[in-house]
Amino acid sequence: MHKSAMHNPTLVINSGSSSLKYALISADNQHRITGLAENLGANEAQIVHKDLNGEKSVIAISGANHKEALVTILEILGDYKPIAVGHRAVHGGHEFSQAQRVSAAALAQLKRLTPLAPLHNPANIVGIEAVQAIYPQLPQVMVFDTAFHQTMPPKAYRYAIPKALYETHFIRRYGFHGTSHAYVSDRARELTEQLSTTNNASKLNPSSEGSKKQGWLTAHLGNGCSAAAIYEGKSLDTSMGLTPLEGLMMGTRSGDVDPGLHAHLKHTLGMSLEDIDAMLNKQSGLLGVTGVSNDMRAVEEMAADNTHPNQADANLALEMFCYRVAKYLAALSCALPELTGIVFTGGIGENGADIRARIVADMRHFGLQMDSAKNAKLIRGQEGSFHGDNSRYALWVIPTDEEYRIALETRQTLGL
Ligand code: ADP
Repeated sequence: MHKSAMHNPTLVINSGSSSLKYALISADNQHRITGLAENLGANEAQIVHKDLNGEKSVIAISGANHKEALVTILEILGDYKPIAVGHRAVHGGHEFSQAQRVSAAALAQLKRLTPLAPLHNPANIVGIEAVQAIYPQLPQVMVFDTAFHQTMPPKAYRYAIPKALYETHFIRRYGFHGTSHAYVSDRARELTEQLSTTNNASKLNPSSEGSKKQGWLTAHLGNGCSAAAIYEGKSLDTSMGLTPLEGLMMGTRSGDVDPGLHAHLKHTLGMSLEDIDAMLNKQSGLLGVTGVSNDMRAVEEMAADNTHPNQADANLALEMFCYRVAKYLAALSCALPELTGIVFTGGIGENGADIRARIVADMRHFGLQMDSAKNAKLIRGQEGSFHGDNSRYALWVIPTDEEYRIALETRQTLGL
C-alpha cells in the first residue's frame, strides 16, 4: 500500500476506563488503520494493532496508562500523521448539541457534566488530555453520543416529574448511540435516493407518494441497545433517556422497569440504591433472564439446545428481547410525520437474521413483508434491504460505522 493512500487522516479515539480504541481514517474514507489498547494500568496491558492491509500485531505495554499507550500508538503509526483527532464523548448534556472543538472552556464544561456520566466522561477526558500532552498543537474535537438527539422536542425529552428538576438540574431524556443512529439513517436516506433514481418508484410507503421526505426507525442492537425515530435527518425521539439504562432490554441492562421498583426493593429486600443500580446495569437484560449469558449468540444456541437446563429461560429472553424492540419501534413511529422504513444495526441487528424476523413478525399491524432469503444473507457486515415486493415500508440492514461518522464530524467541525 502506498503511503499517500492515507491522505490527511483523522485519528478517532474511543477512550474507556481501561481501554483505548483507535482508528486512523483517510480523508476519502478509503483506508483505515485500527487498533485497541486494553488492560491499561495492568501488567497485561497490550496494543492489538491492525495495519493498512488488515494484518494484526500485538505489542506488550506492561503497566502503561492511557498517555503512555497513546505515545506507543503514535509511534506505531509512524509516518501516518493525523491532521486532527476526534474523540467519542458520551454525555454532552444539554450544553452540546453538536460536535465541539476542544478548548480549555469546552473541556471544563465536559468535566462539569461528569455527574451525568460518571463512568464514561472521565475516561473520555483522560483520552483528550493524553493527546494534548503529546501534541498540544493538534486540533481535537469531541463528538457526543447525546448530541444527535438534541433535536428531540420537549414532549419527547421531558419526564413527567416536577419541572424544577428539569429547570434547575437538567433532569430530562438525552438519548445515546447518536453517532450510530445518525450514520445509519443518513446511509438509509442515501441508499433510498439512489434507488429511486435508478429504479422504478417502488410500491413502498404509499403515504409519502410525491413527497421526498424520509422518516426512519433505527434499531441499534448490540451489547447496548436503543431505537430512534429520525425524520429528515433529525432525531425526534429515542428509547434511551437520562442514562443509557432506559428503553430496550440489553446484554446486561434491564431497560425499562417500573420506576417504583427501586423503592420496592429497598423496602422489601433492604437493597441499597447502589446495589439496585448495579443489578439493573450489570446483572439484568439477557444475562438476568437466562441466568447464564449476556451474549446473544450464546442465548440463541441455548434456546436451540434441548439438553440445556436453561433452554426455557433462553427462549423467554429471546421473546422478551424481540417483543420489546417491536413495541418500541411501534411506539416511536408516533414521532414521525411519515415512515419510510426500519433500519437494523449493531452486532445483533447486523447478524441476527432470526431476531430481525421475529421483530418484524411482532410488528404485525404495520404491513411489513419480509424477503426471507434476503434477510438470511444479510450477516457479517453485509449492507442491504430485505423487504418483500409487497411490504408497506422498507427494511434495511446497515452496518454501523461510528468511527467514520466521528471522523466526518471532526473534519466538518474544523472546516477541513
Ligand atoms: P457493542 O455494543 O459492545 O459494540 P456489538 O455491536 O458488537 O456490541 O454487539 C454485540 C452483540 O452482537 C452480542 O450480543 C453478540 O452476541 C451479538 N452478535 C454477534 N454476532 C451475532 C450473530 N451471528 N447472531 C446473533 N447475535 C450476534
